[in-house]
Amino acid sequence: MGNFKISGLILRSLFRRPATSGYPAVPKEWGERTRGRIEIDAPECILCGTCARKCPTEALVVSKAEATWEIDRMRCVQCGHCVEICPKKCLRMAKEYTAPGYEGRTDLIEIPVAKKKTSDDGI
Ligand code: SF4
Ligand code: SF4
Repeated sequence: MGNFKISGLILRSLFRRPATSGYPAVPKEWGERTRGRIEIDAPECILCGTCARKCPTEALVVSKAEATWEIDRMRCVQCGHCVEICPKKCLRMAKEYTAPGYEGRTDLIEIPVAKKKTSDDGI
């Protein structure tokens, strides 16, 4: 009886899709709702600082004077709150994660359009 069950299972498995993928030879397919690393569309940012003020882990630093947006990748917990509240909708969660490493990683992004706006508008 046991052998019969196992044979049936083996036969069924032969015609099913594999339950695992051949990663890394076959690239991983990211889910639609993947909460990956935060990315910014820099020209759209107005340096309002809302994301930095509301970030629960203080992973973000926005400097209007320097026209920079900065993220500490190791502090970010991918909660997505900054993406939801950004008034310009210029933040998004990528479908991949920050690569692991032995040291912390901070990304500093210069905001070119905001720099121009700051001087033009006298803000
Ligand atoms: S990313 Fe969005 S919330 Fe953050 S400073 Fe820029 S415009 Fe404001
Ligand atoms: S996803 Fe959450 S923790 Fe990461 S920077 Fe945005 S608000 Fe902060």
